Amino acid sequence: MTENRMQYKEDNEISKGFSRVSQVLKEKDDFLITAHINSDGDSISSILLFASIVKHLGKRFLMCIDDTVPGKFDFLPDVDSIVSFEKIDYDFTPEVCVVLDASNLERIGRVNSLIPDNSTIISIDHHPSNVNFGKINVVDPKASSTSEIVYQLISALGIDVTKAMATYVYNGIVCDTGSFSFPNTTDKSLYICAEMVRCGADPGFIARMLYQRSSPDTLRALSSALSTLEFHFDGKVSCMYLVNGFVSEGSNVDTEGFVDYLLAIDGTEVEFFMIEEKPDYFRISLRSKEYVDVNAVAGEFGGGGHQRAAGCRVAGKADEVKEKLIKILESFV
Ligand code: 5GP
Ligand code: MN
Repeated sequence: MTENRMQYKEDNEISKGFSRVSQVLKEKDDFLITAHINSDGDSISSILLFASIVKHLGKRFLMCIDDTVPGKFDFLPDVDSIVSFEKIDYDFTPEVCVVLDASNLERIGRVNSLIPDNSTIISIDHHPSNVNFGKINVVDPKASSTSEIVYQLISALGIDVTKAMATYVYNGIVCDTGSFSFPNTTDKSLYICAEMVRCGADPGFIARMLYQRSSPDTLRALSSALSTLEFHFDGKVSCMYLVNGFVSEGSNVDTEGFVDYLLAIDGTEVEFFMIEEKPDYFRISLRSKEYVDVNAVAGEFGGGGHQRAAGCRVAGKADEVKEKLIKILESFV
């Protein structure tokens, strides 16, 4: 770990943020740990990682998210301890609220209502669109993932990395870099992952858990989505959608990663996948390959994210929503 600290010294702002977080970790006792809605590998891993720190220090904590943890993350140690907002039927007044991988407080959904007015909010994130809503903000858009930042905090605190922690860090980085394929894959993120393998993370096992356990219904939903595939602007934009009915409450369909199938097509710059979350209301996943800032595109609809991966929500019928996006994209491609 020392080696790693020497090679990748955090910049001054991040180090200062870590010192302030470390102070709060010393002084306070009750922590709420949460992350964004529509959980992904990085949000879940960074929650579990931060909880490992708080647990190590012997403090009280609650891990809570708006929704439920997607089934594919069931292999992560202690993931069952993350509570869904709906299951909270007792009073918990945290002194500190740690908000991970979320660029603003709306992104944590209903968990927002658990934050007392006088609590200390800590935001740890890697989204460039982060609005610095915390009392302490550790925001590093250069980081591959929030898990990478929390790992560096662990390193700065001098806490030994257990096999479970190594698995969280590796999972967070692998999920947010598209298995080391997106441009946010840096020498630093690869180096940290190598370290995590040394500390017990098992890349083959993690890949099998993440990518080789889809349900037949997920593949059927993918087939339905692919049947709507369209291209615009000489093939520079590709899109597809899934309408309501396919993904009902409690179904075993997992659409995370569907947009990646569009990335597989040669010659496209922007890809978007629309899923009807409720009637006439779509959640959109946007991706780009080289030059379009999809964070800005999503921003046109009140969403956000990163330059190469972003999201937003748009109300309307599938065709209307699609047309709205295509119209905006005309000026970007
Ligand atoms: P995904 O398409 O995988 O759901 O999201 C891609 C990226 O955009 C993630 O980093 C996610 O946190 C971010 N994102 C998705 N939807 C929204 C949104 O509505 N608002 C903001 N600020 N970020 C979003
Ligand atoms: Mn992330």
